[in-house]
Amino acid sequence: MIDITRLLEEMSSTELRLAIQVQTKLISLIREFLLREKFVELLPVIISPITDPLTDFRVRGEVECYGYKYQITKSMIFHKQTALKAFPRIFCFSPNVRIEPAERQNSGRHLIEFVQLDLEVREASREDVLGLGERLFSYVIEGIRRGADEELTLLGRKLPEFKPPFERITYEEAVREFGQDFELKLSAARQEPVWLLDFPLEVREFYDREYNNRPGVLVDMDLIYPEGYGEALSGGEREYQVERIQERIRKKGINPEAYAIYLKLAESGLYPSAGFGFGIERLTRFVCGLKDIGRTRLFAKKPAQFSL
Ligand code: AMP
Ligand code: MG
Repeated sequence: MIDITRLLEEMSSTELRLAIQVQTKLISLIREFLLREKFVELLPVIISPITDPLTDFRVRGEVECYGYKYQITKSMIFHKQTALKAFPRIFCFSPNVRIEPAERQNSGRHLIEFVQLDLEVREASREDVLGLGERLFSYVIEGIRRGADEELTLLGRKLPEFKPPFERITYEEAVREFGQDFELKLSAARQEPVWLLDFPLEVREFYDREYNNRPGVLVDMDLIYPEGYGEALSGGEREYQVERIQERIRKKGINPEAYAIYLKLAESGLYPSAGFGFGIERLTRFVCGLKDIGRTRLFAKKPAQFSL
């Protein structure tokens, strides 16, 4: 059963209400920035015959309508690539459902339903979207420091000022310094955001682009928050040539039949592109300095917890 008492208690929390007020401003600042950068906003896709494989998540959210099987969106990656046929720069506040492992219930960072700002740019390089990410992040932080100072004071949050360019380290360097499980350790060791570059092919999905001259290494990135808050965004350049996509699907051991529609789209010609997905609840958590991501939205759903 859903614990209604807990739900009502949470809804009366001052911390949660302040965080949602800050979040409202965050969303408005993001839109303002992207519209100025000539992006078009798409409405979210909630069900589709294909979604991000995210092979970590073995359980697939499925709905059947009229005898057709739809999957619930884990990310809009394939729709973003396809949408670039219509517009050169697109973004979406995209709701994602991911059945995260139960042991992440109290990580402070994981929900099973969350929203990401998902964006993609036609003919862009990683360098282009990395620069865009830095400018967007700095714009939003500055806007919040100025426009939500009252809320931040009440939350007891001293939000530092961040000036791009941010530090960059490679995945390999991060593993060498902090070990395989480096995300939180790296984050805790920094007072400024840091870019993590060049993930190995095995730890990412098949759509991130592999360097032409460095087999097994991807032209991708994560932005890591400082102060121990962990990952902020993930992105990179995308594979767009059908033969390369087929090869990457094969390497992952995925049945290509499952992505027949996507392969057909790639055959018809996808643009080269780069983009990223930036979690809104995690951004809210960082900006407000909260321990628990459950305080960043109403009706928060943690792994292995039944909620409204
Ligand atoms: P990903 O493509 O998996 O890196 O997801 C994009 C972004 O969404 C991440 O960088 C996070 O900011 C956010 N995100 C991913 N998974 C979750 C989750 N379970 N709960 C909240 N935010 C998430
Ligand atoms: Mg990620």
